[in-house]
Amino acid sequence: MKLVNKTKLLIAASVFTLLALTAIQGYLIRNTYQLKRATAQYESQSIFTQIYNSEPVEYLLWELRNDAIKQAQAYKNKQISKEEVITNLQQKSASLNPYFLEEINKGFAEYSIPVDISIQKKLTSMILHDTLGNTETIYNEKDSTLLLLGTPYKPTENSEQKLINNATFTKGLVANINGKSYTYMLEFKTKLFMSESTGWSGYLIKQMSGVLLLACLLFLFVTGILFYSINSLLKQKKLADIKTDFINNITHELKTPLSTLAIAIKNLNNEASKYNGLFNNSVLEVINRQNIRLQKLIDQVLNTSLGYEEIELNEEIFNMPQFLKETVDDFKLSLKEDIDITTNIHKDAILISADKFYISTAINNLLGNAVKYGSTSVSLHYDYTPKERTHFIKIKDNGIGIPKKHQRFIFDKFYRVSEQDTHNYKGLGLGLFYTHQIIEAHKGSISVSSTKGNGTEFTIILSNQ
Ligand code: ATP
Ligand code: MG
Repeated sequence: MKLVNKTKLLIAASVFTLLALTAIQGYLIRNTYQLKRATAQYESQSIFTQIYNSEPVEYLLWELRNDAIKQAQAYKNKQISKEEVITNLQQKSASLNPYFLEEINKGFAEYSIPVDISIQKKLTSMILHDTLGNTETIYNEKDSTLLLLGTPYKPTENSEQKLINNATFTKGLVANINGKSYTYMLEFKTKLFMSESTGWSGYLIKQMSGVLLLACLLFLFVTGILFYSINSLLKQKKLADIKTDFINNITHELKTPLSTLAIAIKNLNNEASKYNGLFNNSVLEVINRQNIRLQKLIDQVLNTSLGYEEIELNEEIFNMPQFLKETVDDFKLSLKEDIDITTNIHKDAILISADKFYISTAINNLLGNAVKYGSTSVSLHYDYTPKERTHFIKIKDNGIGIPKKHQRFIFDKFYRVSEQDTHNYKGLGLGLFYTHQIIEAHKGSISVSSTKGNGTEFTIILSNQ
């Protein structure tokens, strides 16, 4: 159940991360597009400024200004009306405009600008000032609707009109009215606009197509990897489920003959009382204890793959020194070799609350290792400090020892010391892992002290809460 939730969480987190990354990528691409667009606009604007400041264009503008002066003079001399000033000016600019457009187009043609750019030079105001501070307005239109040069601006969805500059031309002039001359000043204000009639998007998207394609491919690639990983994760989970089922079945099958054996031992025990002397009671007890142990061992096969958090302790209060003596006695009986196993337990009755089965598994693992790894003499030492209510169990051997650099790994799952002759010492590297889990589950600690060739000592510390 936990694993299922974890898997779901993992999948959800990966999908979320992928989506977030995609969103970030989208945002970055959008930013790049906007930046490119702004740069392109800026570039086209500076190209235009160059063209606008070129000699031929300057000349046309000079002509236009001269005409404005001419018209202002004619008006001041009362030869034409205000309206005529404007119509004449429009006529003049209409005659200059083809040349202006030609220059602009010629200029732009030199650069490959992917959009249609149009230019408008519009009249803002034309005002005459005399020396007394009086003003006479011939034309004044804040919105600058009167087109002097360029192409008319047709607003479309994508186009925008940008103000490039605001120009003011002033000129001091002299007018002759009724034989008298008056000085006055002409103020001629124009605005210059630039508009892009088609959008940049098509062009820029084409320019960015390489990056976009790569981004799409990467996205597909990452999605593929994610899909593949999730798929294999689910497959592995399925395999793990099958394994668990298998272990469940096999342990069940093994338990059946053992429970029959348990009943047989019980019967044998009853019989033993009738035939006093013929049966050795202590031998029956050993068989019984080992049978119970075997049953419990099978129960725990499932748990070997679980972490200590998942070991379910079945705590009971028992006499630790007596329990240790019994465990060592049972262990001695299981030995084929002639190995000297001694106990050094001075206390008589110290109670502890722990899981008897698990603690005996841990002690057996340590004793088993001591024998397996070349010892001729093993000792189990037990001590108790009443003040801290702490139990110390030390198992010391004179075997081959564990090199220093391996010591911090030996409690890891499947870890085996590679320097040892694997042919002589068979094992899975699970014994110490399991022992460590058991002691952790009891909130105790286990440590090792050893030097290569000089034996090993394991210390278990357990506290009574
Ligand atoms: P398993 O116990 O699963 O059958 P194992 O004995 O190889 O296999 P552990 O009991 O976990 O695995 O021990 C890990 C390693 O630590 C062993 O392979 C061995 O190299 C080393 N080791 C453990 N106890 C001793 C010891 N008393 N003396 C020397 N080396 C030891
Ligand atoms: Mg072992």
